Amino acid sequence: MTSERTRERLIQRLREQGISNEKVLDTLRVTPRHIFLDEALAHRAYEDCALPIGFEQTLSQPYIVARMTELVLAHGSAEKVLEIGTGSGYQTAVLAQLVSKVYSVERIRPLQEKARRRLNLMQLRNVQLRYADGFAGWPSQSPFDVIISTAAPASIPQAFYEQLRVGGRLVTPVGESQQELQVVTRTEQGWQVNSIEPVRFVPLKAGVC
Ligand code: SAH
Repeated sequence: MTSERTRERLIQRLREQGISNEKVLDTLRVTPRHIFLDEALAHRAYEDCALPIGFEQTLSQPYIVARMTELVLAHGSAEKVLEIGTGSGYQTAVLAQLVSKVYSVERIRPLQEKARRRLNLMQLRNVQLRYADGFAGWPSQSPFDVIISTAAPASIPQAFYEQLRVGGRLVTPVGESQQELQVVTRTEQGWQVNSIEPVRFVPLKAGVC
């Protein structure tokens, strides 16, 4: 089966699962997920499943990438986005095609280096990568319109709340053995939490390595 047909089949499956934002679907259709995987796994790139990227980390299932990207774009502008957990760089690449500027933090250096090469290959110039512990967010670039975390904290780090602009949104899995995807909106009065659905992410870990 040609790569084009397998990609189209994936987009069809995402639609069936309730993804309806056409911009998100178009972006997933044109983003070469296979270049974000090691060669041995590249043939599975357009299956709707999470895949290992080394260091006990995973590239999220396309459904989750699509769902979180829809939530990033859901209300108001998303010009300036902070991603916690660059990993393979795939979610970063998807975001970079839909928003003005993506800042992305990763704590595992070799993953960050591979992600940088792939993002360069795609000629995505509106991405800035940082090797650091994402628990601290990215203070010097804050505030952000949206913060998206692709690793799950047991509870939401204080920096995530503080680095959102008023009207901005945080999209993150939260929890340990039981996790849920949450959207936290910063209002003039405080922070409003919405639970989206149960999810399973790798944990947000402190420190760099
Ligand atoms: N968005 C990634 C998902 C990778 S899995 C992708 O599309 O491939 C989550 C990533 O979060 C891992 O790469 C992991 O190393 C990273 N991570 C976990 N804790 C972190 C922290 N405190 N700071 C920065 N990155 C972190």
